[in-house]
Amino acid sequence: MSFAELGLIPELLKAVADAGYTEPTPIQRQAIPTVIAGKDVMGGAQTGTGKTAGFTLPLLHRISRHANTSTSPARHQTRALILAPTRELAMQVYESVCTYGKYLPLRATCIYGGVDMNAQIQELRRGIEIVIATPGRLLDHVQQKTINLSQVEVLVLDEADRMLDMGFIPDIKRILALLPAARQSLLFSATFSDEIKKLADQMLKDPQLIEVARRNMVSETITHVVHPVSSGMKRNLLAHLLRHQPDTQALVFVDTKLVCGRLAHYLERSGISADAIHGDKGQQQRTETLEAFKSGKLRVLVATDVAARGIDIDELPYVINFELPHTAEDYVHRIGRTGRAGHKGNAVSLVCAEEKHWLAEIQKLIKLEIPQEIVPGFDPEPEFFEAGTRSSRHRKPAAPETGREREAAAGPAPRQRTAKRPSKPMIAADGFDFSKPYEPAAAPTAGTAPADAQPAGHADASVPPHLRRPQRPIAFLLGGLGRK
Ligand code: AMP
Repeated sequence: MSFAELGLIPELLKAVADAGYTEPTPIQRQAIPTVIAGKDVMGGAQTGTGKTAGFTLPLLHRISRHANTSTSPARHQTRALILAPTRELAMQVYESVCTYGKYLPLRATCIYGGVDMNAQIQELRRGIEIVIATPGRLLDHVQQKTINLSQVEVLVLDEADRMLDMGFIPDIKRILALLPAARQSLLFSATFSDEIKKLADQMLKDPQLIEVARRNMVSETITHVVHPVSSGMKRNLLAHLLRHQPDTQALVFVDTKLVCGRLAHYLERSGISADAIHGDKGQQQRTETLEAFKSGKLRVLVATDVAARGIDIDELPYVINFELPHTAEDYVHRIGRTGRAGHKGNAVSLVCAEEKHWLAEIQKLIKLEIPQEIVPGFDPEPEFFEAGTRSSRHRKPAAPETGREREAAAGPAPRQRTAKRPSKPMIAADGFDFSKPYEPAAAPTAGTAPADAQPAGHADASVPPHLRRPQRPIAFLLGGLGRK
């Protein structure tokens, strides 16, 4: 099937051809004619399936009748609103709108928090047909009356499950109340929890359900592997693995902002070009880091789930879970960054005894027993092999990432409400204290390193396991071995 058979206008077909797409992906085959026909859509699709073009192309098709070259703002009312949970995702959707809409005189803009509002206000004043926004900043503009949503014909809610996780649902409901009732609405989500279904009931009218991949199915082009390893040796193993793949780029996932920054510093000190991306960094810094990674200048990007959402890098070969995610579905989201658009990908997870419980949940969800390979010199805790070892089920979810997200998350997100204090040790078994501020240090020379510290850049595999074993009681005292 070709794009032309889906009924798209010539301007869009030309842009699609320029992008090098020869045939529509399964989600595009289903979504494009449905949206062109004016129907609401509940789309079950992960990133990597081509879902962005799946809603962007027919959306542009539908509002193309408003395309005009007039300079009058009155001729450029906001006709389409696309909501995305993060700045990065919003920017990527914006780029797609620009790519596919390049032959249509329609205006688009991207508005998100963390930056000055004035430039966005100037832009909105010109008149903009397509607004891509994060919910919080959009409401700021509503409050300041710098945006008029009364003429919106199409609403898209992208990655609704992530919006829910980040506590954005109250903001979404406020935005829905500001839109005309007679509109077309599209909701996309990788997963459909009861809460998402409830939101869909409120937002969609007689929606067409479009699901391209079975829920939580992972791409077949991804090779999964688990490296069982003690918690204290994880960072050494990570450096070791990266040194053995010197030409590849990797996206490394961690659970918290604290570990994120410190791990990137550790890798840098170990001679591996790395940087961290998380919500405490300024927008410009995040954009620069992302650009450096996309252009290949940066080899390793260490990220939290929220910051990495929407990172779209074709041919990213490695996703490494330095820590397993709190929910099995996040594993699917994380590894969705690799193996995209038919490319081969690798999903590597470093798993300590404490995390076995999460691993079992992931395997159940993806219906796959992930092969386990111990890297010589990086053994797991003995508890890893004990049947019935329980990991902590009370790990605190990653802290919300932006001011607004933090505010929002203090509200109704259920996982966050029930969370208890983290049981994760702040001091790794090798003496590395994650709770201390980072102090840059020259690589220690032989004889100067403290006895309990694993020096940066240490020849990891050369530390025989018997030398590390006495460190285990430290982890045990800190609850790191997952025993009661
Ligand atoms: P998405 O799922 O929207 O994040 O898209 C994943 C990737 O697939 C993006 O890099 C798109 O540029 C690419 N893509 C989207 N549609 C097609 C298509 N029909 N053929 C080839 N690549 C595509």
